[in-house]
Amino acid sequence: MNRIAVIGAGTMGNGIAHTAAMTGFPVTLVEVSQQFLDRGMSAISKNLQRGVDKGKMTAEEKDAILGRITGSVHLESVTEADIVVEAIIENFASKAELFRTLDRITGPDAILASNTSSISITKIAAQTARPDRVIGMHFMNPVPVMTLVEVIRGIATSDETWQKVEDLAKRMGKTPLPANDSPGFISNRVLMPMINEAIFTLYEGVATRESIDGIMKLGMNHPMGPLTLADFIGLDVCLAILRVLEEGFGDPKYRPCPLLVKMVDAGWLGRKSGRGFYEYETK
Ligand code: NAD
Repeated sequence: MNRIAVIGAGTMGNGIAHTAAMTGFPVTLVEVSQQFLDRGMSAISKNLQRGVDKGKMTAEEKDAILGRITGSVHLESVTEADIVVEAIIENFASKAELFRTLDRITGPDAILASNTSSISITKIAAQTARPDRVIGMHFMNPVPVMTLVEVIRGIATSDETWQKVEDLAKRMGKTPLPANDSPGFISNRVLMPMINEAIFTLYEGVATRESIDGIMKLGMNHPMGPLTLADFIGLDVCLAILRVLEEGFGDPKYRPCPLLVKMVDAGWLGRKSGRGFYEYETK
């Protein structure tokens, strides 16, 4: 597997393209418009420049990495890919439509992977005539820095597909770890209830935001507190994942804290909107 295509050049898509190109793969990066494509390419360039400034790579190496990425606003550019990694918005209808199209336009042996945080891989795979070659490739944010790839097997994903994706993730310098398809997989099923519980402690006035985050940072050796982490992930994203857990398991233990719902209703989405549990300067 050598030719990689990435769909969506947002936070995750540009990080996946960056990482693949940095590890030597030719990458095709597809967006819906030139404006979004330019934004994604300039994010990659900026992130690579940071490596140059820190002396981790030369300007020539940066240019070579950028040279391996071909941007496109036409989905047909992915027809020759060995694997397509989808990283578009977290919305089932959008992903379903995209996978139906990818199934039609890519070669019969191509693997179709989704970077979804919470949508069922089995359900996405059912949109295609190749459910054995559909898999979850859940990278972590920021992709060039975080080593984990949670690899999710849908009910029909074949051993061969898993092995190819495991191999690819390793070649991209990552550590792939398998999980079966289940709401929230492993990462978000364990993480989101912790974040939600932290929000409940704030909601109930048990402690201040600084104290809650400080206790979890210093006491549990977490690199950032749960409220800071929620702001970083995006409060709308946290809420959407908790809804998936609540609906998927039908268990009220996953019910989102009313404070989280209220903040999302207010448009306080965390770092990206300038306000969440903390205040941020908007760019
Ligand atoms: P984002 O909003 O930053 O980027 C999504 C991009 O996809 C946008 O630029 C949008 O224009 C583009 N897009 C939408 N529909 C498209 C289409 N049909 N074809 C091509 N491009 C299209 O979102 P993100 O944070 O990068 O998340 C992408 C996926 O990764 C989601 O499924 C999300 O759940 C998952 N994910 C996100 C994180 C995170 O921390 N942000 C972590 C792990 C997984």
